[in-house]
Amino acid sequence: MVKSVVFSDFDGTITCEDSNDYIADRYGMGKEKRLEIFKSIIAGTGSFAVGFREMLESIDKPFDECVQILHDNITLDPGFTKTFQYCEKNDIPLIIISSGMKPIIRSLLGKLIGEEKANKIPIMSNDVKIDPKDNSKWEIVYKDTTPHGHDKSISINECKSEFDKKYPNEKITYFYCGDGVSDLSAAKECDLLFAKKGKDLVTFCERDHVPYHEFETWEDILKAMKDVLENGVGVGALMQNK
Ligand SMILES: [Mg+2]
Repeated sequence: MVKSVVFSDFDGTITCEDSNDYIADRYGMGKEKRLEIFKSIIAGTGSFAVGFREMLESIDKPFDECVQILHDNITLDPGFTKTFQYCEKNDIPLIIISSGMKPIIRSLLGKLIGEEKANKIPIMSNDVKIDPKDNSKWEIVYKDTTPHGHDKSISINECKSEFDKKYPNEKITYFYCGDGVSDLSAAKECDLLFAKKGKDLVTFCERDHVPYHEFETWEDILKAMKDVLENGVGVGALMQNK
């Protein structure tokens, strides 16, 4: 089998809903204002780091309450568990590359797929700083100082150079799965980009002529992965928008 690695966004990609959008739309600035911010990020007139911070600062809830709301409302993509099992069985690393906050991702993932499985998945993401004296005071801590807050291309390239060193004689196929504006910095780094149907990442790929393979659920991702890894289909054959 072809050696491969899967990088994936978390919110709206592994989960059906985006956890940060979910909270901001209901307990923060609201959907209309959030969409305005996202529009400016896609247009290149606003930075993700500034817009996302503004969105999170509008949320008027203690951090642990946010986590509880998300536990009660965020659901798992119907094909993810099966794909993760396939990855485990075939020794394919799966790494989460997220602009969300690590404690939320860790906690939600544990709830959605079970702690044992969740602990096997590395997470490269932003973090959070909570005031130890007052849980209602919290803020995002960005992974880097780029306009992306977390430039996913940097994390992906760090991982890629480690894998390339670890397997010097293999041509590794890198997959990336994403859905939204936070994936713009990752879109061009992998051999095959999976972009979720009807979401902002597709809009961006269409506009900037970035090749991608559209998916609705991880069932589609798994099918395409099997085509490449087992059935000898080239990634080029699976790309749209070439
Ligand atoms: Mg996302």
